[in-house]
Amino acid sequence: MVGAGLAPALGLISAEKKGKVDEFLALMKADIYNDLRNVSGCRRKRAMQQDTYGRGSQEKPAQPLLKVLVIEDEDNIVELIKLGLRYEGFQVESASDGLQGLSAAQRINPDMVILDLGLQPGGIDGLEVCRRLRINPTTQDLPILMLTARDEPRDRVLGLDTGADDYLTKPFSFEELVARIRAILRRQRRASGSLRGDGTNGNDNQVLQFGDLRLNMATREVTRAGRLIELTATEYNLLHLFMSHPRQVLDRQTILNRVWGYDFLGETNIIEVYVRYLREKIEDSPSTPRLIQTVRGVGYVLKG
Ligand code: CA
Repeated sequence: MVGAGLAPALGLISAEKKGKVDEFLALMKADIYNDLRNVSGCRRKRAMQQDTYGRGSQEKPAQPLLKVLVIEDEDNIVELIKLGLRYEGFQVESASDGLQGLSAAQRINPDMVILDLGLQPGGIDGLEVCRRLRINPTTQDLPILMLTARDEPRDRVLGLDTGADDYLTKPFSFEELVARIRAILRRQRRASGSLRGDGTNGNDNQVLQFGDLRLNMATREVTRAGRLIELTATEYNLLHLFMSHPRQVLDRQTILNRVWGYDFLGETNIIEVYVRYLREKIEDSPSTPRLIQTVRGVGYVLKG
């Protein structure tokens, strides 16, 4: 079933691309089939929902399935993501181009979007979809996981300064995709439940101040010397972490765990990418940062 229709679609792309797609599909298939063999679907689904909604939710009535919108032009990848995520207990809808994706996001009100950066030429690409989702009040807080190709120019990947919450480079394992989705949804729940970037208590202390930088936890507004700074949800959470621990060196594992909810480090350079975004918004001179300083081989520290 999974392999059906593979050949005609892959025939449309270059041999080099085909190699990457094949590699990706093989990885995903292996993961999905391992899961199907090893784990009972019901148990898995229950575990997923408990994980996503929090422990001990037995007293609550059955939760509606979480809805994921996949915007991706490669049919086979969409099919595999759908197959796997439905098995994991998600409701999955898809759109094959950017404009369809935007209208689907309005129509179905998903819990999150998986968005391919490289959509078919002729329509709008993933970056533009991301921008438009972010400027529309009904979708501005929608979590977005961006998919990028490994051969995507680095500048373009770094140029994801459009408000994607996270990104994953193809080919990725299905396990990693699900881990990212869960982490994004946990963060979203935490942010909307408490309006705070981390789990600490402190209603008596609604404003964090560091030099002329002010972060209001109640309104999620950040200003520097009175000037409002627009931050995406992830940038805000990252700055909140730094401002909660001023002059304290935060190692990469801690940052990844507190901001992205990952308990593994992996190969990701996501911290570097988002520190760079943050510097561009809050530093006087982003290339010679004074506020968020790099501690080589360890992590970062808010100083200045
Ligand atoms: Ca694509």
